[in-house]
Amino acid sequence: MTDRAPGFSTLAIHAGAAPDAATGARATPIYQTTSFVFDDVDHAASLFGLQAFGNIYTRIGNPTNAVLEERVAALEGGTAALAVASGHAAEFLCFHALLQPGDEFVAARKLYGGSINQFNHSYKSFGWNVIWADPDDVEGFAAAVTPKTKAIFIESIANPGGVIVDIAAISAIAKKHNIPLIVDNTMASPYLLRPFEHGADIVVHSATKFLGGHGNSIGGLIVDGGSFNWVGDDRYPMLSKPRPEYNGMVLGETFGNFAFAIATRVLGLRDLGPALSPFNAFMLLTGIETLPLRMQRHCESTQKVAEHLQKHPAVEWVSYPGLAGDKYEALAKRYTPKGAGAVFTFGLKGGYDAGVKLVSNLKLFSHLANIGDTRSLVIHPASTTHRQLTDEQKIASGAGPQVVRLSIGLEDVEDLIADLDQALA
Ligand SMILES: *Cc1c(COP(=O)(O)O)cnc(C)c1O
Repeated sequence: MTDRAPGFSTLAIHAGAAPDAATGARATPIYQTTSFVFDDVDHAASLFGLQAFGNIYTRIGNPTNAVLEERVAALEGGTAALAVASGHAAEFLCFHALLQPGDEFVAARKLYGGSINQFNHSYKSFGWNVIWADPDDVEGFAAAVTPKTKAIFIESIANPGGVIVDIAAISAIAKKHNIPLIVDNTMASPYLLRPFEHGADIVVHSATKFLGGHGNSIGGLIVDGGSFNWVGDDRYPMLSKPRPEYNGMVLGETFGNFAFAIATRVLGLRDLGPALSPFNAFMLLTGIETLPLRMQRHCESTQKVAEHLQKHPAVEWVSYPGLAGDKYEALAKRYTPKGAGAVFTFGLKGGYDAGVKLVSNLKLFSHLANIGDTRSLVIHPASTTHRQLTDEQKIASGAGPQVVRLSIGLEDVEDLIADLDQALA
């Protein structure tokens, strides 16, 4: 090794991994075991008391998952990460570490439909109250903060596609009120955008999408930016108060700039249980090795498809920040100079019925509720992912009746354009 700091592609392949100490295996082995033998009674006691790092039981940690955690932390530029069973589990464990019953958090109104449901309904039963703000109106975030606000949550490139959020401006509001900014970086991936460089404190991922990249494994990650000081802050008792679970240890003091990653593991994951299977960690690691190459191709092809649709007579508008004159063009140049991602929306002149017809006529695009696959995907949000929302909420979240969302895959772009042309005809 040289002294040079490794580049992104090198980290995507090597970060966190080394030849297996026991066997020399070069690829990361799948440690498909529930539990790990202790050296002796003292070793067991120090592991359980958090005095030593090591493996106990796969619900709390696993060596295959640890490689994934270290790799994503390195790619995002964070201090540590936690791998969990899904993107939703990552969001849940984040809020669990931050909120008490009766607390509030401010969230951007344009989010993955599942996050909107989770925040509006399931979180209510924990007494966690979401206050919605418009991601295009930075001042609206400031106005939504109250003394009960414990966090701000946004997506970097926001669902259902084509929205770039001014992370630095929203981070300034979070910093002013001394609350952490959580950024869901699923749609961008760290290859296109690294939220910590713009003031985020915590990053979450649905690794199910671009990180894994092949549409074969559900998983999620929480990445600790190490920037938030929890010590002495009574608003965050999980991190700042003595924990009865660990003989009065104060996690924020003991673990410093990676205390949030530890708290989500030793309190959230341990007690609530959404653990990632080591097999899925292996699949996600394999996907991440080609993340830079895939994202480049995703963005190139998306630009071409978006430009083609913009000229199509059946299409009323295309919302992709890579297009000249797009509302988010300037923010995209600043935040995603390598490309504005692979997911975007367009509006059909024929409205709801035309949307339903288009998804039925496409042959190469798969009609399903996912993004970030090697395969190209299509969905009509108003009749599927966003159907639980009221018409008003649908429009507010960018999923009105005429809107179709595409996730452009890695096929030959000429084939994708031909498929769209035949289906629109
Ligand atoms: C899919 C997705 C989620 C939820 O992730 P799962 O892995 O499906 O639980 C959260 N945020 C965004 C932006 C997503 O695309």
